[in-house]
Amino acid sequence: MIATKKTIRIKTALSPRVFGDELLPEVFPGGLITCRVCDRTELVPIGHPALLCSACMTDLSATAAHVAAVYGAALAFFIEAGVALTEAVDSSPESAWWARVEAVRGADTFDAHLFSLAWERAKATGGERARLCALWEKLDQEAGKLEPLNAWYTNAGRELRAARAAFGEPIEA
Ligand SMILES: [Zn+2]
Repeated sequence: MIATKKTIRIKTALSPRVFGDELLPEVFPGGLITCRVCDRTELVPIGHPALLCSACMTDLSATAAHVAAVYGAALAFFIEAGVALTEAVDSSPESAWWARVEAVRGADTFDAHLFSLAWERAKATGGERARLCALWEKLDQEAGKLEPLNAWYTNAGRELRAARAAFGEPIEA
């Protein structure tokens, strides 16, 4: 039996024509998305299953691994900084002073200006108090880096699940 050669006709979407910054969206049946993993803006056809660019869609497992690695690293630095501060405070001769600092920071009467003056004084004095301040600042810095990644991680995970569901791939927890 001779296999008949089938002609597969693929209907391709017209590529967008770019004139300077101007796009002509009417020639492209789709829309602009911002990739929830790499932030790239891309034109995708209607029915594109997730807010992920074509590069991030190419290998979903690799993209998921990248997201997990970036978030995991930031989380690890944050936890490490938290442990370093806690351990330093627990064994510090200035632990009573630090407890007062934390109490003032959490008080209803907290005065940011006065607090920052006292904070800078403690840092300028050097020694153990300055060391605790530096460890707290490190923790604060790591928290600042982690904070925006929380939303990024959630959004990227949602889009990865949507893409995998569309391709019939198993969805990891
Ligand atoms: Zn992307």
